[in-house]
Amino acid sequence: MYLPSNYENFPLWLTIDVEELEDANFGITPKGPLDIDYADIIDRWIELCAKHDIRSTAFVLGSFAQKYPDAVRKLHAHGHEIACHGLVHELVYTLPFELWKEQTRQAKAILEDITGAEVVGYRSPSWSLPFAKSYYEALAKLGFRYSSSYFPFKTYMYGNTIDKKHPFDIYTDAGNITEIPVPKVVLPFSGGFYLRVLPLWLTKRLVRALTQKEIKPIIYTHPYELLPNLFWRFRKNVQPDKAYILSFFTTGDVRRRIDAIISELKESR
Ligand SMILES: [Zn+2]
Repeated sequence: MYLPSNYENFPLWLTIDVEELEDANFGITPKGPLDIDYADIIDRWIELCAKHDIRSTAFVLGSFAQKYPDAVRKLHAHGHEIACHGLVHELVYTLPFELWKEQTRQAKAILEDITGAEVVGYRSPSWSLPFAKSYYEALAKLGFRYSSSYFPFKTYMYGNTIDKKHPFDIYTDAGNITEIPVPKVVLPFSGGFYLRVLPLWLTKRLVRALTQKEIKPIIYTHPYELLPNLFWRFRKNVQPDKAYILSFFTTGDVRRRIDAIISELKESR
């Protein structure tokens, strides 16, 4: 079993999917430039982690890395693992297999060129990796050691129905690969939409429910979610659809929430 050191060394696995707001698959179509200062957001992420002496795993989109190589280098220099989030944010199950494979190879090479370090982790855009051996075999062949693409809850866009609670190995002809699923308590709650919407007291209680069962909590977030009042800021600038309207009502400050969750976990150790 391969587990990244930033998973093993800390009371929770802090992960960030590093992409631009326009990349997200929930129907954001900007009418003009959104003027988001990603370098500044990444700096603040590094600060938040440093405050708690925690290093995260950053699943970086290839197209983001090409635009902001310095931000990726900085994350790496501060001990954050650079892992791969694909080349562009297309849902894997909509892509021809060979194209997905080639794009993933390119994305890994872009990241390795920027940091000079080997990239061994993969997370598919929007948890869209089909849970099929052929995909894991391709990842192993490309040199990946682990994936974090299994979402144990079925939504309209992604997810699986089996509740996998712990990392597990998938055996392929190209070698073993470890899948690190997002844990849930009835519902997944520790990232994205759920982390923005659920009240903090409930999120903290669910995190405790996991640690009591010796399941490692996994936080997943995105640079743009670390901006307070995200959707309010851009309401005039984006074309909404159903999912966007859902997200519109979530104006919580995810950074403050993550800060509170880490503090709570450190106290309860
Ligand atoms: Zn993503």
